Amino acid sequence: LAHRRRNLRELLEHSLTWGERDYLVTDDRRISFAEHAAAAGALATALATRHGVGKGDRVGILAANGPDWVIAFWAAQCLGAIPVGYNAWWAPPEIAYGLGHTSPTVVLADAKRAARLAESGSDVPVLTFEDDLPALIAEFGGEIPNTPVGEDDPAVILYTSGTSGRPKGVVHSQRNLVAVSDYHRFTDAMMAAFTGQPLGDGPSERRYLVTAPLFHIASLHNLVIPRLATGASVVFPDGAFAVDRVLRLVERERVTNWAAVPTMASRLLDHDVSRYDLSSLSALSLNSAPSSPALLDRLRTHLAGAQLALTTSYGLTESGTAATVATPLDLAVDPESVGRPIIGVAVEIRDPEGAVVPDGAEGEICIRSPYVMLGYWNDEDATAAAIDGERWLRSGDFGALTDGRLTVAGRRTDLILRGGENVYPTEIENVLAEHPAVSECAVFGVDHPDLGQEVAAVVVAEPGAVDPEELRAYLAARLAYFKVPVRWRITSEELPRNATGKVTRRRLAL
Ligand code: ATP
Repeated sequence: LAHRRRNLRELLEHSLTWGERDYLVTDDRRISFAEHAAAAGALATALATRHGVGKGDRVGILAANGPDWVIAFWAAQCLGAIPVGYNAWWAPPEIAYGLGHTSPTVVLADAKRAARLAESGSDVPVLTFEDDLPALIAEFGGEIPNTPVGEDDPAVILYTSGTSGRPKGVVHSQRNLVAVSDYHRFTDAMMAAFTGQPLGDGPSERRYLVTAPLFHIASLHNLVIPRLATGASVVFPDGAFAVDRVLRLVERERVTNWAAVPTMASRLLDHDVSRYDLSSLSALSLNSAPSSPALLDRLRTHLAGAQLALTTSYGLTESGTAATVATPLDLAVDPESVGRPIIGVAVEIRDPEGAVVPDGAEGEICIRSPYVMLGYWNDEDATAAAIDGERWLRSGDFGALTDGRLTVAGRRTDLILRGGENVYPTEIENVLAEHPAVSECAVFGVDHPDLGQEVAAVVVAEPGAVDPEELRAYLAARLAYFKVPVRWRITSEELPRNATGKVTRRRLAL
């Protein structure tokens, strides 16, 4: 564990130690660490030679998950360039906004997104994954170019999910990403030690399943980057998320860890998991959005035969990696909590004046750690509003710390201001989710002439399974009167969600 790398390029060079071991595995591709490093090096040389990409230039990536996304990311690292993970679900006007915001020198895209790029009216040079990348990698040699990069230089720009408005471009430094990798190197080594291997620099035998998009932090920082430090594999199912395909891949590749957004995990409930051999899977972690205790209970019962640890975590793009993780024991003590801060992270709860509140009291969740972002791209005012002089990050989420465990009440922007009362949607959603007929739900505020706002709910249920009267009575028996929604819509259609599995409340209607 002694050899700390200073930047991602050094990490890429280090990955040659893992040689022919699998790094990237999909339904039909298998790329070793050696092949990957050679491809990234060749692509980097091509980007420098053909497109003049150099230190600090932005290299856009606009594509669905897959090995080429990862190769493009590491190619940029070889040049000290800054990869920008654009959201692959964006429509042409959103793409135009992203390109205008970060002005990439070149964009690497899959064919589907290259077409969308053309529609956005941009004239940025585009290299496609299907045609250009294989040709360039074959043409240019496999040397890894060496551009000097400092620890505080930008290493990546990732956009937030845009749940509360326009996505923000979060910049993480080389130091942030190396710190996240070190964290994973340590936890992987500890896992190995528990299963009888020496605590050292040998390769990890864990295999990580990636189902969330690479353009968001949970997959890129926690799954894909640290594996170069640990020698473990990442496995990507091809195409859109489908439970069958994912479980077949878990079985075939003996996957050990799966990090999913709660909606993906909830789809397991409709499948007979006993048809698959899931004995390799030791951990399923739910992150990026709230998981109700009711969902966790249903999953535990459903997956009882698989004997895996169910964990949750809380974090934001700006925090660099999870700020807190809840182990099964944390969840047994407090099913509402998102656990304790991970190594290196300090969490404080502050009142509006910035004073730390007593244990158990609610306030804004603030985070300080080596993983916290440098700032927002080209936005000093927003950066100064988010990070104070002592590098504490204001999360914009409300919550409380009780006996060291964090609970997240909800985002400041989701708070419903009903008359004099503050109402958090998550609290109501957690109770509604316990009703057996409710498969999904979302609570939000709608305008009211006297109260300012009143509480509304959209519930997903089988047609005819439940009516608003029954749900209202159910909640009235469990919650204060002002929290019980007065306006309802029951539907059999799925809720609108973004790429991190969060309900896009502004698209909800009654
Ligand atoms: P934007 O900032 O553009 O509105 P976003 O906040 O959704 O988008 P992300 O950085 O992807 O962007 O998401 C971080 C947010 O996700 C957190 O601030 C928090 O509100 C929510 N979140 C993440 N994990 C959890 C969790 N375990 N429980 C509850 N909320 C969570």
